Amino acid sequence: MIRLTVPSIEDDDLEAVRDTLSGGYLVQGARVAAFEQAVADRIGSAHAVAVSSGTAALHLALLSVGVGPNDLVLVPAYSWIATANVAALCGAEPVFVDIDPRTFNMDPAALEHNLRALLQDPATASRVKAVVPVHAFGQTAELPALLDLAARHDLSLIEDAACALGAACRGTPAGRWGRAGCFSFHPRKAVTTGEGGMVVTDDPDLARRVRTLRHHGADPAAPVPEFIVPGFNYRMTEFQAALGKTQMSKLSRIVEARRTRAAHYDTLFAGTPVVPPATAEGHDPVYQSYVVLLPPDLASRRKDVIRMMKERGVETTIGTLHMPLTRYYRDRFGYRKGDFPVTDGVFERSLTLPLYETLSARDQDVVAGTLLDVMSELGDGHETP
Ligand SMILES: *Cc1c(COP(=O)(O)O)cnc(C)c1O
Repeated sequence: MIRLTVPSIEDDDLEAVRDTLSGGYLVQGARVAAFEQAVADRIGSAHAVAVSSGTAALHLALLSVGVGPNDLVLVPAYSWIATANVAALCGAEPVFVDIDPRTFNMDPAALEHNLRALLQDPATASRVKAVVPVHAFGQTAELPALLDLAARHDLSLIEDAACALGAACRGTPAGRWGRAGCFSFHPRKAVTTGEGGMVVTDDPDLARRVRTLRHHGADPAAPVPEFIVPGFNYRMTEFQAALGKTQMSKLSRIVEARRTRAAHYDTLFAGTPVVPPATAEGHDPVYQSYVVLLPPDLASRRKDVIRMMKERGVETTIGTLHMPLTRYYRDRFGYRKGDFPVTDGVFERSLTLPLYETLSARDQDVVAGTLLDVMSELGDGHETP
C-alpha cells in the first residue's frame, strides 16, 4: 500500500526521545524551552510558546487576544474543523467566508463582503473581533490583503498556520504576519511531535497570556506558584519537545523534498482532466497535502475513486471539510448547500494524494497512473456514462 503520509522519523529523533525518557524529567522543562527557541528562530518571532496541539494553540491565541462570548470570528468555510471549533469554544461564533477556487484559501473579496454586511448591521457591528485565515494545505493565504482588511476595522488577525511551518508569503514566513501564528505538529504535518502545537508572536503580553493559560492559569513570572486566572493543562511533554527539536533541524530538507515531489505530480497531471494545486504568485507553499480537483462530473463518484484506489494499493482521502455543512454548524446556523458556492465545488471535487519525503518518483507514477485509470473506468467526463 502506498500510504497517504509517512513521517520522517530517523535515528537522531529516536535517540532524542529515548534520552529524554531515561532522564526522568518528562513535562515542560528545558527541552520545551529549546524547542520554542528553535521555532522562534526559524520564524523570526520574538516569542514561541509550545502547547499540546495545534487546536490548543488556536484556542489560547483567540482567548489571549480577547475573543469571548458573543463575539464573531471570521474563518474560511473550508478547513479542518478545529478552525471553527476554537471560536465556538471561546463562546464566540464562527462566521464562515468563502474561498478562492484556485488556492482554497479565504478569498479577500469575500471577507470584505462579509465584513461590510456585519459592520453595517448594528446587531453585529460591535461583536466582530478577529479574522483567522488558514494556510490551506501549507500554502499561505493572501496575507497582505487580509491583513489590510483586518487592520482597517481594528480586528486581530490570527494565522491558522497549522499546515504551514516553513511556508512563506512574499518572503515573510507563515506565522509571522498576524498578531499570532499557530502551528501544529500532528503526524500529517511536515514535521511532527505526535501531538503538539506552538503559538508564535512578537507581542510579549500575548505570549505571557498564552503561557499562563497553558498551565492552569499560573503566573509564569511568579517565583512561587500563583494562579491568576482559570487555565488549562495544554502543556507539551519534554519527549515531544526533544523530538520537535530534532525534527526542526530537518524542516528545510523535508520541505524541499515535498516541493520536488509536488512538482513531479504537477508534471504527471499536466494535460489530464486532473487539476493540480495552484501556486499563487509570491507564495512558497510546503505542500502539507497535495490536493487535486477531480473533474466536476466525477465529484459524485469521489468515494468510488477513493475505494478503487485503495483496492489497487493507493491510499487517498478527501481534501478537508466544508465546515458550515458539518452537523453542528449546519444545525446551529441553518447553513445549506449554495451558501458557499466555491467551497461547495472544491469540497466535492478535492482528493488528497500520497506525499511524504521518502515517497519515490516511481510510486508517484503509480499513484498518478492509478488515478487516471480509475477515472477513465468511472467515465472522466469525456465519455457519456
Ligand atoms: C491540523 C490542523 C489543525 C489542528 O491541529 P492539531 O494539532 O491536530 O490540533 C488546525 N487547523 C488546521 C488547518 C489543521 O490542518
